[in-house]
Amino acid sequence: MANETKQTLERPVLQALFLHLQEQGYDIVAPTLRDAAIVYDTVNTPSDLPIGWTDEQDAGRYRLKKRDDQAAFAYNVGPHSWKKYLLPPRMKLWEAQRDQKGFTMLDATPPPRKLALIGVRSCELHAIAIQDTVFIEGTCVDPFYKAQRENLFIVAVQCGQAAKTCFCISMNTGPKADSGYDLALTEIIEEGRHYFVCEAGSEQGQDILAGLETQPSSETEKNTANAIVEKTAQSMGRTLDTANIKTLLYENLEHPRWNDVAERCLTCGNCTMVCPTCFCTTVEEVTDLSGDHTEHWRRWDSCFTMDFSFIHGEGSVRSSNKSRYRQWMTHKLATWHDQFGTSGCVGCGRCITWCPPGIDITEEVAAIRENPV
Ligand code: SF4
Ligand code: SF4
Repeated sequence: MANETKQTLERPVLQALFLHLQEQGYDIVAPTLRDAAIVYDTVNTPSDLPIGWTDEQDAGRYRLKKRDDQAAFAYNVGPHSWKKYLLPPRMKLWEAQRDQKGFTMLDATPPPRKLALIGVRSCELHAIAIQDTVFIEGTCVDPFYKAQRENLFIVAVQCGQAAKTCFCISMNTGPKADSGYDLALTEIIEEGRHYFVCEAGSEQGQDILAGLETQPSSETEKNTANAIVEKTAQSMGRTLDTANIKTLLYENLEHPRWNDVAERCLTCGNCTMVCPTCFCTTVEEVTDLSGDHTEHWRRWDSCFTMDFSFIHGEGSVRSSNKSRYRQWMTHKLATWHDQFGTSGCVGCGRCITWCPPGIDITEEVAAIRENPV
């Protein structure tokens, strides 16, 4: 549902939005400053947002920088993604306790929380939609993911700037958020005025908006909001040519570029951890010393580890750096299409920023495209 009626809310009303959501039982999760980065965490008020801060990103580089205004959302995506709330990095699934009759199994999956996600960017809405395909729309539904997904209220923020690592335009995932949210805000700072142009994308969003002090946006305000996203689109940091990409990668599995990237790749797995669509997990048994109690934990895994492709009797079937990087990139950009009908990449650029040696997925594709075997 897209509601074309735009409302303007002045900056102080952001506090009322937080309060309304909290009164409806939502915990607010939003960008906030921690450890010299902008991360997602539970917050209480708009003053917990990274007000007056921005970031500078490039391959293998992330720095915070002070702004000369009080913008609340003037930065790009950081090392966290919203998947940590839908697919927690570590989660107990069940536990078993030994008693006189044997073992009693207990479901330990945590209940979903009502979460209001504030500041979700267009590429991130697309990443959530991709994970919905994996966890809700496939043959195996993940019950925690589904329950948590049904308990989200999403406040999107239109991007007012692109990082040097962003390439959402190439992936058709941004920068304008046009669906998948309950409310979408465009932040505007003008001489002596700080306000948001807001639109509802769901009935729930409309209800929340109706309870806030707003006024219909003027044509000038709407045009200003549109111009901000347009300017972001024009300043995209990178591009990735997706034409025929599936075939290109399938036909170049032995391209020399994979050896080149293998010399730079540390197989640290950072790219998979920060990626908003990567979803691989493993499970671990954790027993106590008595052997009477065991817990079954799920945690994020990465295709960059040796254990990931370990097969009994064979060992790791992807033992080289080359095979692991190739597996990751061809899954993102090629085999994902076969599995789920979309690309596995939304162009957020996180894997470029957070790769220690600055390996750049757009550059790797371009190198193969330029000189296919
Ligand atoms: S591509 Fe970069 S982030 Fe990914 S595993 Fe290799 S070194 Fe780590
Ligand atoms: S592959 Fe890289 S750019 Fe694409 S969605 Fe994942 S982290 Fe973002």
